[in-house]
Amino acid sequence: MVNKCANPECRKTLRYLRDGIVYLFSSRKDSEIGSNVPNSMEHFWLCGVCAQKWILKTDSKNGVQLIPKPRRKTHVPATEANAVFPYSR
Ligand SMILES: [Zn+2]
Repeated sequence: MVNKCANPECRKTLRYLRDGIVYLFSSRKDSEIGSNVPNSMEHFWLCGVCAQKWILKTDSKNGVQLIPKPRRKTHVPATEANAVFPYSR
């Protein structure tokens, strides 16, 4: 299990899982698909501050990568976002 933020510039210690985002990635490489290598999963954690600026992505060549989070052009107020799920109230 992870205990540090996945951002190498941050490395904040994980204390509360509700702070930030936990990612679950397969650690199996493309070359291992179809072989007997077990498909183990790896956890990565971004702290709350980093999760606002970064996301984690994985690809078979480079493994897990930290990439800037795409910015939304228009800010959607929380009340409008809630309106998408009218049955949640
Ligand atoms: Zn962080």
